[in-house]
This record gives sequence, structure tokens and C-alpha cells, in this order.
Amino acid sequence: MRWSQLFIPTLRETPAEAEVVSHQLLLRAGYIRQLAAGLYSYLYLSRRSLLKIERIIREEMDAIGAQEMFLPELHPAEVWRKSGRWDAIGHDMFRLQDRWGRELCLGMTEEEVMTSIAIGELRSYKQLPQIWYQIQAKFRDEPRPKSGLMRVRRFTMKDSYSFDIDAAALDISYKKHHAAYCRIFDRCGLRYIAVEAHSGAMGGSQSHEFAVPSDAGEDIVAICEGCGYAANLEKALSKHRQPTAPDQSADEPAEEFATPGKKTIAEVAEFDGAPETSHIKSLAMAADGKPYLILLRGDHSLNEAKLSSVIAAAEIRPAHPEEIRKWFGADAGSLGPVGLTDITILTDQALRDRGDLIAGANKNDHHLRHVTPGRDFETTFADLRAVAEGDTCVQCDTTLKLTKCIEVGHIFKLGYRYSESMGLRVLDPNGKEVAPIMGSYGIGLERILTASIEQNHDEAGMVLPATIAPFEVVVTPVNLKDDAQREAAEALYQSCRDRGIDVIFDDRKERAGVKFADAELIGIPYRITVGNKISDGIVELVTRSTRQSTDVRLEEAVERLAEVLANSAGADDSSASP
Ligand code: ATP
Ligand code: MG
Repeated sequence: MRWSQLFIPTLRETPAEAEVVSHQLLLRAGYIRQLAAGLYSYLYLSRRSLLKIERIIREEMDAIGAQEMFLPELHPAEVWRKSGRWDAIGHDMFRLQDRWGRELCLGMTEEEVMTSIAIGELRSYKQLPQIWYQIQAKFRDEPRPKSGLMRVRRFTMKDSYSFDIDAAALDISYKKHHAAYCRIFDRCGLRYIAVEAHSGAMGGSQSHEFAVPSDAGEDIVAICEGCGYAANLEKALSKHRQPTAPDQSADEPAEEFATPGKKTIAEVAEFDGAPETSHIKSLAMAADGKPYLILLRGDHSLNEAKLSSVIAAAEIRPAHPEEIRKWFGADAGSLGPVGLTDITILTDQALRDRGDLIAGANKNDHHLRHVTPGRDFETTFADLRAVAEGDTCVQCDTTLKLTKCIEVGHIFKLGYRYSESMGLRVLDPNGKEVAPIMGSYGIGLERILTASIEQNHDEAGMVLPATIAPFEVVVTPVNLKDDAQREAAEALYQSCRDRGIDVIFDDRKERAGVKFADAELIGIPYRITVGNKISDGIVELVTRSTRQSTDVRLEEAVERLAEVLANSAGADDSSASP
């Protein structure tokens, strides 16, 4: 490709609307333009990168025996009603009507459609296992589309679905995906971790997220450098840290005291002089409309995923202010467990065996001291709190680290959720009708590109791995008017093409400084510069990431480049078997 003929609208200034680096660079480097909130047009460069990512994913999915399909983006409401998700999913789903008033939606994931194909066609265990996938647009009306391509309302997902006869077979399909995902992210040059994840409200027994550590990420992952344990904060476990000072004797009866205007734990603790660890945090929740009081140690926070695995309810949410007043006779900030009737109290196990604590008195601007669980109120203990910085690992005794991450992929054991609800049955070896067990597996293509930019950039621009950069190399003549330079550059461009190297020829009539800056901004991993040394038969091979320049002989340049590409980050020819 000749740069002079391409549309690569680079910008000198950083657009004001872009906060995270990947968003800034995607705009500045002319990869994308915004159409509306969370909707982007992918210009030439991002399209090239995304197609390379797509090719890597396709090769690795095909290598585990997955079969590619292509399903409609537009779904009839009936399939989603059959699974129960038409009503369960709220505003995230784009819904519309056709000219006859029939309800439709834009696909946000495809369990329903894949399962409905299987219902018509799979009849016997002999046809299992099956792994079906597609690479296609998904639509989600995200509440906060942001950060460029990181969280958009239309994105490209590789989604696959497995159908197996039993849990042992599903385990094999799951492990195949796990391994394929590792190869995909390795080949894309990402530094990532596979972390244990929460399976979500839709059930399922096992799930892993592939997380790329980055400050631009929206997920928090607890990582143990001692034993390698890694889990999303939604699911992570840790050992308890008991406060260093033991509680006072629990002999004294609970006693009310005034806390005028003090509502948060920090405010109350500052006021009464006791540490936050000696306070009880009381959270009023409604589970299918029924009142619950959740108690945590003052410095801890609730893990909603853990709570939802303790309470069996379709909807769990914080109680509304009117409900709180009705149920507790006081407002949030003065709630506590003592004297309640008809409200289920669940207490995090960090408060087990504790005593002499401070809690709200269910009377505005009042608290109680000397409160002891079990003595002053009845409760059930459960693991409810989120892991906090400084906690120790459940598997070893190393201190856990909390790290921000970008989720690039997610694999799930779905279990029987869809085969049961939608009525998928096959005959087992004994001729009995059984529901196949399913898995579902997603990768966001735009997330791979954005995560890569977040991990690989410097002040001059992107530093993309050769496997996913829009071009592998740019050939840049310093002075186009110099015949020797122009002709040598032209010849290098041709021989790169002949060798199958993805090359762009910067034949623009620009100053060399402008050409170098643009090539660095768009992140082309290698540059062959043809300058004055051409009179000695020498060109320069420059590596974008290190900016190191090596003199090489003109006739050896392409060979050297090919070697460097074969050894560069993400390059791995051993895995790509058809
Ligand atoms: P998140 O927690 O980030 O919203 P999710 O749990 O909703 O992600 P899945 O439903 O598991 O995501 O989708 C599979 C993959 O699709 C994710 O791992 C991610 O790479 C990608 N993805 C999901 N939502 C978006 C989005 N709004 N924009 C871009 N990519 C997305
Ligand atoms: Mg989401």
C-alpha cells in the first residue's frame, strides 16, 4: 500500500473528549471516528488490525474443532421469551418492532439462537460434542458507553457454544476453550491472566475471565503472587484479618448514645473514637421485595455476588428510602440489628466471635455501643464481604494484590440453563431423553485492540505487536527527490510484498520528521529507513518499541526483517495448525 493514496487522518492534538490513552490514540492515529455515543466507524487502520485479530481467533477456534457459523443479528422475541431472558434483561437490550408489530431485538449474545438451532437438529448423544461459533456484531445499550472502543454499544464478539452429553465432556470442551484463548491472547501479544470469575445471575458452575492488567480497566482482580491464585473481586476469597486489638469484654449491655448528624462509618468512628473495625456496617436490602439487613465490619464492603449466592431471589437490590423508613423506623445511617422483628439478618463471618461493637440504633442520629452478635440479635453468618487490599490469600499466606484489569474474554460452564428452559433433548446411550449440558465462550475483538494499546504505547503513539498492527513494516525514503533513495525504497517495498510481509510504503512528499512521527503514532512495529547511507548500500532497520536502529545492507534488509518478524512478540507459528 502506498501511503500517499490512503486515507489515514492523523491528528496532531489529543482530542479533548478522550480520557483513556487507547481512546486518544485511536482518534489521533486515524483508526476510528465516532458516530454517536458508543458507536464508532472503523476506518482503514482499525479495520486492518481487527481483521488480523479475527484471523488469529478463527485459526485457534478451528484448531480445537469448533465450527464457524453466521447467525442473524436480529432476533425474534420468542426465542428470548423461551429462555426467560426477554423479561429478565432490562435496558441493556435494544428492542424494536417490525412492520407487523412483532417484537424483535438486536443480539447481545446468542445462547438462545444457538440452542434453538440445536433443538431442531441434535437428536442423539452420537452427535455430541458440538462446538459452534461465530464472529459477529453484538449490540448492548450500555448505561455508560465510554473509553473509545473499550465499552461500546455495537462491538464484535467471537462467541462460541458447546453442547455435551455430560459434565465430564463439558469439562473437555471448556478446557479446549481455555487453551485456545491462551493461544489467541499470546499471539495477540497481550500480557494477561486467567482469573476465576463469578458465573452471573444466570447460573453455571465454573467461569474464567481473561484479564489484561491496566489502569484503564474497569474490573478489579485479586492476585496472589505466592501461589498464582487470581480471581475477579466479584468472586475472590481471602482469609480474615482480625483487628489487632481484641474486643473489650462483652459483659456490658447495649447502650444508646447520640450521634448527631453522623451517618457514615467514618463519621461515626471519628465521633466516638473507636476504630472502624469496631463498628458494624448495616446495609438494608430488598430481595424480591422482602427486607434483609446485611451486616459487615465497618471497614469492609459487600460483595453482591456472594450475597446473591446466599439469598435465593430473582432480584436483590438496596432498599429504597421509603422501604427503609417503613422497615426500620429510621433512615440509612442509623440502622442496626438490635430489636428488629420480621427482618432477616445476615452477618459477614468477619464479625463472628466479635463483641462490644457499635451499630445504628434504628433511631435517627443514635447508635448503640456494646453490641454483641448472638447475644443482642439473632443472625446467620456467611461469607459476604469483598476482598480488601492487604488481605491474605486463601490458598497460601501471601498478601493479595488488587489490580485493575480489562476483561478481554470470558468462558462459562452454563450447565443445563438453556437446554432445560428451551427444551433441548437428545437420546443418551440407553435410549433415554436427556438435556445436553452447555458452555458459552466470548471474546471481544475491540477489547483486544484497546487492551493492547493500553499496554503498548509511549509518548509518540502506539507500539502494537506485529501480529495485530495494521502493517508490519513501513518503508520510508528520507528524501523522495533523491533517485537512489526512491528507487531503493521502491525495490524494498516490492520485495517485502513478494515475501508476504505486510508493508506500507511512505511515498508522501512530507518531511522525514513528519513521516517518522506518523508511523510511530499509528504503531507500525518496524521501519526500514532509506537515507543518505544508500550511497554505501546501507539502510536502517528501526524497531518501534525500543527505537533502536541497526544498519543493514540493502540486499539483506528484507531477510533480516523477516527473521525479526518471526521472533517478535506474539509470533508463534507452532500453534496455527488448520
Ligand atoms: P463487561 O463486564 O465488561 O460488561 P461482560 O461480562 O458483559 O463484560 P460478556 O457478556 O462475557 O461480557 O461478553 C464477552 C466479551 O465481550 C467480554 O469479555 C468483552 O471482551 C466483550 N464485551 C462485552 N461488552 C462489551 C462492550 N460493551 N464493548 C466492547 N466489548 C464488550
Ligand atoms: Mg457487560
